Amino acid sequence: MRFDAISVIPEVFSGYVGASILGRAQARGVFTFHAHDLRTWTHDRHRTVDDAPFGGGQGMLMKPEPIFEAIEAVQAMDETAAHVVFFSPCGAPFTQRTAERLAHMERIIFMCGRYEGMDERVYRLADEVISLGDYVLTGGELAALAVTDATVRLLPGALGDEQSAQDESFSDGLLEYAQYTRPATFRDEQVPEVLLSGDHGAIARWRRQSALRRTAAFRPDLLTNAALTDEERRYVDELLDGSEQAGEV
Ligand code: SAH
Repeated sequence: MRFDAISVIPEVFSGYVGASILGRAQARGVFTFHAHDLRTWTHDRHRTVDDAPFGGGQGMLMKPEPIFEAIEAVQAMDETAAHVVFFSPCGAPFTQRTAERLAHMERIIFMCGRYEGMDERVYRLADEVISLGDYVLTGGELAALAVTDATVRLLPGALGDEQSAQDESFSDGLLEYAQYTRPATFRDEQVPEVLLSGDHGAIARWRRQSALRRTAAFRPDLLTNAALTDEERRYVDELLDGSEQAGEV
């Protein structure tokens, strides 16, 4: 899969996409990431990418001309047509479902905003507009990295173990179950006995219940759409009706 990011600070990407799991996935040819300086597509001496907003107000907006030229030029860098993603707090919230959908694309171009945002006319170049969440960042670069990271780890061969992208938070609409490693007792706290039992059926049941307890405690909103059996539904209803969620979940 090929990613292209257009930004006024293209140097910020390489450290993150070159390290650890993403770095190894790139080395194995799972994906490529190309960062482009938006100022390449300016034509004045100061390489201007911003201007004052019509109607007045604080701050500067990104001008449309360099953005149009940049996207056209970056599209032409590869014969595979790219899906174009813009970032804005006004976009659709990014979720694991979005990452699953994007992981099927062959090529994505990210257009990263800065300053107070962009001239509204650039959004006609967008196949979709994504928000990382209900807060305001100084630029779209972190959003591009978050989307790249969450998408790449779903690509075949990106993680060592195929299973690990399947069992985790959100994959079945629930948060992941609690996990433990050695030592079995640490500062007086014990790992749940069943996890040491070697009884795989009992462990699977415990994990499912742990996922249900954690989702009920931390993200009850997710339970509305989760696929639960009647018995599981009764269990979470009891948890939600019950008093405080105390102790380990
Ligand atoms: N004035 C704008 C925010 C501009 S922030 C507003 O109120 O909506 C500058 C740039 O950072 C945006 O153009 C966008 O590309 C990026 N950005 C900021 N917050 C973001 C978020 N929550 N999700 C995705 N991108 C974001």
